[in-house]
Amino acid sequence: MSDNSQAALITPTSGAAAESDAARLSAARERIARAAAACGRDPQSVRLVVASKTQPSERIEPLIQEGQLLFGENRVQEAKLKWPALMERHPGLELRLIGPLQSNKAKEAVQLFDVIETLDRPSLAESLAREIQKQGRSPKLYVEVNTGSEAQKSGVPPEDANVFIRRCAVEFGLTISGLMCIPPATGQASPHFALLAKIAAANGLEELSMGMSADYPLAIQLGATHVRLGTAVFGSRTA
Ligand SMILES: *Cc1c(COP(=O)(O)O)cnc(C)c1O
Repeated sequence: MSDNSQAALITPTSGAAAESDAARLSAARERIARAAAACGRDPQSVRLVVASKTQPSERIEPLIQEGQLLFGENRVQEAKLKWPALMERHPGLELRLIGPLQSNKAKEAVQLFDVIETLDRPSLAESLAREIQKQGRSPKLYVEVNTGSEAQKSGVPPEDANVFIRRCAVEFGLTISGLMCIPPATGQASPHFALLAKIAAANGLEELSMGMSADYPLAIQLGATHVRLGTAVFGSRTA
C-alpha cells in the first residue's frame, strides 16, 4: 500500500468514516444488549458512554444523530473547545469527565460536565465541593479506584476506598453516585471489575463505570452500569 492510500484510509473527515462509526456504534449496542441478556440483566441497565477524546465534532455529531447521548472526555481543555457548541445544538447530551482532574480545573469541570468520574483525593473533593456550592451546579460524582494499585495511575487505592467515600460525604458534603476503574493494561480485567463491584456494594453505590473496547462484555457480566468505548466505535485512534 502506498503512503498516499494509507493516508486516505486514516483521514477522519470523510462521510465514509462517519458511516462506519455509525455501523460500529450499532454493533456495540447489540453486543451490549447480548452481554446483558446472557447474564439475565435488563439491557437498559447498561449505558454506553462513547469515549470521544481526540475525535473532532464532525465525527461526534453523526453519532448524536444515531441517538447516542452519553460521551466521555479525558481533558477539560479539549472538552471546552468541542462540547459547548454541540450541547447547544443537541439538547439532552450527557458529558462525562473520564480523565484525571487537576484541582485548579475544578471550576471549569463543574461548569461543563454532567458527571465527573475521576474523584480520587481529598484536595479535589474540597475543590469540587467549593465549586458546587458557588455555582449551584451539581455534577454527579464517581470515585475512581486504582484497583491494580499501579504507582503511575490515578485513583484511590482499593484499601482506602471505603474511608475516602465516607469522607466525601461527611467532611465535604458530597454525594457519591458510583465508582470507576481502569484495570492494568495487561493481565485479566475480571478481578478488577469484581473488586470494584464489591467496593460499590459495600458502600451502597449503584453505578459502576467499567469496561472498555477490549473487555466490556466481561464488565457487563460483573455488573457494569456504564461501559466506556472508544476504539470499538471510532476504530483505531490515529491521533
Ligand atoms: C480512551 C478511554 C476509554 C476508551 O478506550 P477504548 O479501549 O478505546 O475503548 C475508556 N476510558 C478511559 C478513561 C479512556 O481514556
